[in-house]
Amino acid sequence: MSAKNPQGQSRRNFLKTLGLGAAAAAAAPALAMTAATGEALAAPTALGPMPKRMLGKTGVEVPTLALGGMFDTINNQLLLRQALNWGVTYWDTAEYYGRGQSEEGFGRFFAKNPDRRKDVFLVTKLTPREGLDTFPDRFEKSLARLNTNYVDLFFVHGIDSMSPLTPKIRAWAADMKKAGKMRFFGFSTHSNMEDLLMAAAKEGGPAAGLDVIMFTYNIHVMHKPAMQAAVDACVKAGIGLVAMKTQGMGPAISPSEAELKVAEQFLKRGFTEKQAKLKAVWGNPHIASVCSQMPSLNILSANVAAARDKTALSAAETSALHDLACAETGGYCAGCASICQNATSGLPVREVMRGLMYQRGYSEPGLGQNLFAELPADTRQKLATADFSRAEAACPHRLEIAKLMREASETLA
Ligand code: SF4
Repeated sequence: MSAKNPQGQSRRNFLKTLGLGAAAAAAAPALAMTAATGEALAAPTALGPMPKRMLGKTGVEVPTLALGGMFDTINNQLLLRQALNWGVTYWDTAEYYGRGQSEEGFGRFFAKNPDRRKDVFLVTKLTPREGLDTFPDRFEKSLARLNTNYVDLFFVHGIDSMSPLTPKIRAWAADMKKAGKMRFFGFSTHSNMEDLLMAAAKEGGPAAGLDVIMFTYNIHVMHKPAMQAAVDACVKAGIGLVAMKTQGMGPAISPSEAELKVAEQFLKRGFTEKQAKLKAVWGNPHIASVCSQMPSLNILSANVAAARDKTALSAAETSALHDLACAETGGYCAGCASICQNATSGLPVREVMRGLMYQRGYSEPGLGQNLFAELPADTRQKLATADFSRAEAACPHRLEIAKLMREASETLA
């Protein structure tokens, strides 16, 4: 069930009311109209080639738009082919996505198109939850599912502190590099991003074996001084940066009036609000690529068009997005997990907020339920009744944590 705003519209439905179907939610008006007639698939190619940027000190140029693989890649082989044809040659997957099925879908594509493996900058990840000692065996299984003998980049998946990056796991990564099974190593993070980026930069980045970081980066967090300082430090250290969660979806409902006003403003200019949010991230030249989940050809088409279109946001448009971020502050969880966890004796508030984000912002209730189901049973019980007053007082985005945790207990369980 998708969440409703005060006017009773879901996020996707309100875009439909602007003339944009859910699948074309990121499309420019012209693209959205042609999508109905089937012409949209040809539209991005009229906008020039896919731009590329250098990925830190790897020496590799990657496309500014990357294909996030958290969807049914097995049954979307045509989309994978079209992504390559449109220049989206950076593919991101993980063991966690579909419990290996996302990797399997990419592997199926390479099995049928072995000549295209060299065209793809292939990324996979393993979560440290099952124990770091399991990495060597699980990594081999990932390679087998991907039907390849190497990945271009490997991430320790979704960390919220540097503790999983032990000397042992770094030594293993160095061995994999020497063996030619992994070209570059790094981590992805949704939580405590600024602290982790800064810590990685202080270590020396590539000099300490950390080549690339993928992190949550969007209009809600990009203007924060701590984030700007962390990004600058990574750039100085030579760490490649890949942005994710660039649409800035939150666990609560956005104020519809602010969102509608900004959406209408961008539509007059020829962008959707979603395309504008991508452009805002690309406005930082140090972000090498944006990893975007694009489970349909229409969304792929729209995002490719946004990437290839060279029109930058004006100062007024950037300001409008910043104002929108400020207006939506109460509906966005900024990932500063240590703040609310310290105020609740360690309850995983941030993880639950992510579950709500998938359920409400992305209309992917299954992903939210999976995240919730992975929490220990006693933790799930505590979330419905715990006292969150200290966490709410400490939360910089003033989120109604108690209410949201109760809703999660009811709708994600
Ligand atoms: S709930 Fe508040 S304190 Fe916790 S991660 Fe989200 S924004 Fe930060």
